[in-house]
Amino acid sequence: MFIQDEDTIVALATASGVGAISVIRISGEKSIELVDEVFSGKIKLVDAHTHTIHYGKIIDSKNELIDDVLVSVFKAPHSYTGENSIEISSHGSSLIVKKIIERLIEVGARLAEPGEFTKRAFLNGRIDLAQAEAVADIINSRTEASLRGARNQLDGLLSQKVNFLRNSLINSSSLIELELDFAEEDLEFVSLNKVMNQLQEIEFEIDKLISTYNFGRIIKDGINVALVGKPNVGKSSLLNYLLKEKRAIVSEIPGTTRDIIREEVNIDGILFTLYDTAGIRETEDVIEKEGVNRSVETIKNSDVVIFLNDVQSGFSNKLFEKLKTYTNEDRIIKVVNKIDLDPNTKINCEVKISAKTGEGIDTLFKVLKEKAIGSETYSEKSAIVSNIRHLDALKRAKQFLENAKESIKEKLSGEFIAVDLRNAESALGEIIGRVTSDDILNNIFMKFCIGK
Ligand code: GDP
Ligand code: ZN
Repeated sequence: MFIQDEDTIVALATASGVGAISVIRISGEKSIELVDEVFSGKIKLVDAHTHTIHYGKIIDSKNELIDDVLVSVFKAPHSYTGENSIEISSHGSSLIVKKIIERLIEVGARLAEPGEFTKRAFLNGRIDLAQAEAVADIINSRTEASLRGARNQLDGLLSQKVNFLRNSLINSSSLIELELDFAEEDLEFVSLNKVMNQLQEIEFEIDKLISTYNFGRIIKDGINVALVGKPNVGKSSLLNYLLKEKRAIVSEIPGTTRDIIREEVNIDGILFTLYDTAGIRETEDVIEKEGVNRSVETIKNSDVVIFLNDVQSGFSNKLFEKLKTYTNEDRIIKVVNKIDLDPNTKINCEVKISAKTGEGIDTLFKVLKEKAIGSETYSEKSAIVSNIRHLDALKRAKQFLENAKESIKEKLSGEFIAVDLRNAESALGEIIGRVTSDDILNNIFMKFCIGK
């Protein structure tokens, strides 16, 4: 399969703004001829070997110098997109970049859409859809763990697993189709039994993939933590301790944190986003009321809740009961703060900390991570699902498998079973983009940046 788009596309591949150099990317069947029209060097780029770099000048329509540049030549199919491609490294001025891109448009290129280079790589069969999505994840990743996860997906770990399952399904359905061709009446009991066992195994593997989603999502997007507690227990102080900067307001007057303050910390390669809520107590103050609603939203959307108490006011049962109406109890960590004031406190809690001295805070994060991810660990080389689109496809595949199993149990005609198996296979195929509508593709690549 080799689909060549007629258009030559161009975009700035490096971040816009001032930098030492900028890289402009051009791709398309005629991209090399096109760059030759604006480039003056020792040789014509069409005569250059693939994967070679050439020094020269980019010249405008009046034959004046725009910039001296280095040009890398990639010839189809040995390029990122699978098409002829060029990368121009120019000086990092945004004016130069603008002029070069305008010049390339003058001679026939057009501006690339977001993610269009990667979309072409997908359409040309260089990578599958799950791998293309991993490219976006790599660009967006901010922690070591998320980078590793995306890297594995780009390397094809998930795709291989999905393909293995698809092949197993194709095997099972051909067993049935074979029977259909030969059997005059009912399918033979033995082969149905065999298919049933195969389907059970496939379903087991699909379930295993589905069960990695929570882990995968958290590795990719991080852990959302709501900080809840009565005024003055030290929510802002805890946040400040973590961030080692004074952005949250620390005050002796209760109730000064009216807005939800959101901060991100990277601890052991995992991103924690902490939300300091205004508290969920009843209040007459309109602004505070608004804050309270937002607090409830925040609590509902978070993976874990730190329920903060302090040694002075003790464990707040009333607030705890209320908190449990908004979130599952096993997501709540009972924490007591200010143990520097009373190291032997008998207050009922899971973790004791001091936002002043930092005592217990490492433990707190270990517990946070355990609550969010669970004790399940995955090897570096396991296929992990981190994308909701993939999860959805897996769930649909599982449903079709269930239907097929049901049909077998009810001794329905083999055609019914075969149809369900084919549907299950095609649901799995969506993950890697075997069957994908334009809408889905556009939706995926729209989220990329321009130049990727
Ligand atoms: P919030 O209303 O829950 O955000 O509480 P704050 O963070 O504003 O803290 C209230 C008061 O408790 C401030 O005076 C803090 O300095 C003090 N405080 C917070 N954490 C500790 C702690 O661990 N030890 C001590 N001794 N004081 C603390
Ligand atoms: Zn506060």
